[in-house]
Amino acid sequence: MNDNKMSRRKALGGLTLAMAAVAATPILAHTSQPLDFNLQPVDLQDPTTKYPRPPFTHQNQPWPALASKMEPRPDHGETTYKGSGRLAGRKALITGGDSGMGRAAAIAYAREGADVAINYLPQEEPDAKEVVELIKKAGRKAVAIPGDLRDESFCKKLVDEAAKQLGGLDILISNAARQQSNPSVLDITSEQFDWTIKTNIYSPFWIIKAALPYLKPGSSIIGTTSVQATDPSPDLFDYALTKAATTNLVKSLAKQLGPKGIRVNGVAPGPIWTPLQMGGGSTPEKLKEFGKDTPLGRPGQPAELASIYVQLAANDASFSTGQIYGAAGGNGQP
Ligand code: NAD
Ligand code: MG
Repeated sequence: MNDNKMSRRKALGGLTLAMAAVAATPILAHTSQPLDFNLQPVDLQDPTTKYPRPPFTHQNQPWPALASKMEPRPDHGETTYKGSGRLAGRKALITGGDSGMGRAAAIAYAREGADVAINYLPQEEPDAKEVVELIKKAGRKAVAIPGDLRDESFCKKLVDEAAKQLGGLDILISNAARQQSNPSVLDITSEQFDWTIKTNIYSPFWIIKAALPYLKPGSSIIGTTSVQATDPSPDLFDYALTKAATTNLVKSLAKQLGPKGIRVNGVAPGPIWTPLQMGGGSTPEKLKEFGKDTPLGRPGQPAELASIYVQLAANDASFSTGQIYGAAGGNGQP
C-alpha cells in the first residue's frame, strides 16, 4: 500500500517538475532557433568629441529653416541608426518629421520596422523628400502629408489621411513647434503669440483628439517638450510656456488614457542642432556658441535622441507613461 502511495515530498517534487516543464515550454519554444549572442564589442565613444563643438560659423535662414542648408548638416542617424525590429508592423504619424528630432525618429522608426507618415510645411518639401527616401530605403511605407497645423480642419484631415494610408495608427509623435527669440515680452505681438500657441498647444490638442479613435491598447503618444518647460530662457517667453504646457499635457493625458492602455510620454531635449534654432529660434550670435555651456561642451544632434523615441513607443516600455525622458548634455532637467 505504501509502495503505491507517493510520499508528500515526492508528489510535490513531481508537481514542481511538471510546473517547471509547463513554465519552460514557451521559453523553449522561443529558443528553438538559437539566439545569436555572438556580439562584437562596440567601441567606446567620447560624448564630448563625438559631434561638432562650437564655435560654429554664422547661421541664419528665413523661417522655416531647412536642415539641408545648415552648416554643418545635422546628424539624424542617416548613416548610423541600426534597427532590430523593435517596432515591426507599427504605424506612426510624426509631425515635423522632415527635420530635427522628427526626422531622427522617422528614420529610426522605419529601420525598426514601422510604416511612417510625416507632416511638415510645404516650404520644407526638400527636407521631407529626403526623409521619404530614407523611409522607403528601409523597406517601409512612407506617407508625406504637408500642411499647416494651425488649421483645425487640416489637423483632423492629417490624422484621417495618415490612418487611411497606413492602414491604422498606433504611434503619434506630436513634435512640430514654433520657436522665435524675442529679447522682451514687449516685442511679442498678439499675432506672434497666437502663432506660437496655435502651433504648439492647439495643434497637439486637435491632433490627439483626432487620433484617439484609432489608437488601440498598446498604442503610444509621444510629445516633444523641452528643458524650457522648467528652466525658461529670458528670450523665449511664449515658446517656453508652451513647453510647460506640453509637459503638463503628457502627464494629465497619461492619467486619462492609462486605463485604456494608451501610454503618453514626453521627450525633453536641451540645445539640439536643428533648423528650429536657425530660423529665428536663436540669434546668429548665440548660435556661434550653441551648446557650449552644457557639461559636454557642445549641442546635441537629433540622432542622439532617436533611441528615446523608439524606447517610448516600444512594447518593452509598457510601464512607462506620464514620463519625461531628457537628453540635454548635462544641463537642465525634464
Ligand atoms: P525642426 O525645425 O527640425 O522641427 C520643427 C518642425 O515643426 C519643422 O520641421 C516644421 O515642420 C514643424 N512646424 C512648425 N510650424 C508648423 C506649422 N505651422 N505647421 C506644420 N508644421 C510646423 O526643429 P526641432 O528642434 O527638431 O524641433 C522639434 C521639437 O523639438 C519641437 O517640439 C521643439 O520645441 C523641440 N525642442 C527642440 C530643441 C532644440 O534645441 N532644437 C530643444 C528642446 C525642444
Ligand atoms: Mg523642418
